[in-house]
Amino acid sequence: MSDADELVFVPLGGLGEIGMNLALYGLGPRRRRKWLMVDCGLTFAEPERAGIEIILPDPQFAEKIKRDLVGLVITHGHEDHIGALADLWPGLECPVYATPFAAGLFTTRKAGEAVMSDLQIKVVTQGSRFRIDPFDVEFIPVAHSIPESCALAIRTSCGTILHSGDWKIDPDPGLGKPTDSKRLIEIGNEGVLALVCDSTNILRDGASPSEREVAQTLRDIVTAAPGRVVVTTFASNVARMRAVAEAASAAGRKVILVGRAMERVVAVARDCGYLEGIEDFLSLDSYSALARNEVVLLATGSQGERRAAMARISEDDHPIVRLAPGDTVVFSSRTIPGNEREVNRIVNNLVKQGAEVITDRTMPLVHASGHPRRGEVAKFYEWIRPQIAIPAHGEELHLEEHARFVALCGVAHVVKARDGDVVLLAPGAPGIIDEVPHGRLCKDGNALVGLDDEAVQTRQRLAFAGIVTIALAIDAKGEMAGVPDVVLAGLPAKTRAGLVLDEIVDAALFETFDALPRPQRRDANVVSSAIEKAVRAAVAAAWGKKPSVHVLVIEV
Ligand SMILES: [Zn+2]
Ligand SMILES: [Zn+2]
Repeated sequence: MSDADELVFVPLGGLGEIGMNLALYGLGPRRRRKWLMVDCGLTFAEPERAGIEIILPDPQFAEKIKRDLVGLVITHGHEDHIGALADLWPGLECPVYATPFAAGLFTTRKAGEAVMSDLQIKVVTQGSRFRIDPFDVEFIPVAHSIPESCALAIRTSCGTILHSGDWKIDPDPGLGKPTDSKRLIEIGNEGVLALVCDSTNILRDGASPSEREVAQTLRDIVTAAPGRVVVTTFASNVARMRAVAEAASAAGRKVILVGRAMERVVAVARDCGYLEGIEDFLSLDSYSALARNEVVLLATGSQGERRAAMARISEDDHPIVRLAPGDTVVFSSRTIPGNEREVNRIVNNLVKQGAEVITDRTMPLVHASGHPRRGEVAKFYEWIRPQIAIPAHGEELHLEEHARFVALCGVAHVVKARDGDVVLLAPGAPGIIDEVPHGRLCKDGNALVGLDDEAVQTRQRLAFAGIVTIALAIDAKGEMAGVPDVVLAGLPAKTRAGLVLDEIVDAALFETFDALPRPQRRDANVVSSAIEKAVRAAVAAAWGKKPSVHVLVIEV
């Protein structure tokens, strides 16, 4: 048995969260498997994780098998599928395959970073099929919210896997190829062992609206608007960008780009031919020369990102763009869970400035999701008719609901896999047979550290209660030399009862020192730990919070 070929699926990210997608397929006898990686994405950290914005899947297992890693295939250019590549590739060093748009976005984003000199992405076109031995990989076009999204048919000696990537069924996606249902049905007819499928919108009935309907809505809004129109959306949604440009042109308006991310995507989209027939966008230099009803601004920051254009415009902090009553702002986006507070702040500030703000809550068709709803998922299973279903790209709730749903669709085996599981697909009965190391890493500056990293935890503590730093000198007789230096950072000056924290610290410091027997006062470690403890306790008693206390004792 141990010498027979096996086919296994090992997700290291994306099964239990929406984000940091990273999956491995292994083929061969248990100890001599060859591996193919699909996607290498990041996710964003919760705001309470002080100073950490980016989270990556822990690559330990992938690094362990790197000698047998035959390639990494990127399904599309979204950050949750390619965003960890630059950081994790040096530990993998395998060939990377991506479509021109995904490769172009990666290259412009990472231009100048050291990793680029070694990492050359092999550019593949949608619809192509080739061998990455022992795997045979076909890139099937699917509609999504970024150009050139691909589902993958991975053919092996043990059977075919259909890895859906991110997709929807949109007969009129506005740009690029629609989902190639004909090809998917053909592959279904060849026989598919396992379908690993997107769960993002499994909780919603019916089908996602078409990008075409969104384009019509935007056109109506721009045509009717009396003043300036600002549209904010994901920078990588080129179909949406095109729809905004066409709406502007129909209303005799020019489009100005606001935000570097937009400019970068536009450059790549033009290179790939996705903005053909669209007049050149203007830069912000043209802003003051255009009348209010002659312009549409396309701005970054639809998720409330603090440094992006929308946040700055809403705070009247943008160097050039100022809005006025009668202007219209359209959030052509859905707020990702976790970003609601920041987005709401921006919306309220814009309303305060007198702008009319339109979101998908007030007008549903200003945005369409790039992921399949339940009705589309059902259709996909009809096309593919897999023996095994593995729900992916979802949080617990989505994965569980997807599993329940496809069981009703009549799929023989539904495997509820999570990050780190080793799922046997063939031969024999499918199921989870093992677990490998997995988890999350924080990107802290340019270092990659664990979630429980001491430095990150220290910063969380500092953010919560601040720090008291004390420097004092003691002489050989155990007397204090000179006046101690005390610095409070991140603490209020006074407590509610009017106690001055500076004075509380001073009092605790001198009382503790004076109470120490003379021989102990000569020991710097004893002095510092006694003062540290006493100061923390005194501040906690007065203020109700325990700051960090650092005491530096110098012997003179
Ligand atoms: Zn995704
Ligand atoms: Zn995506």
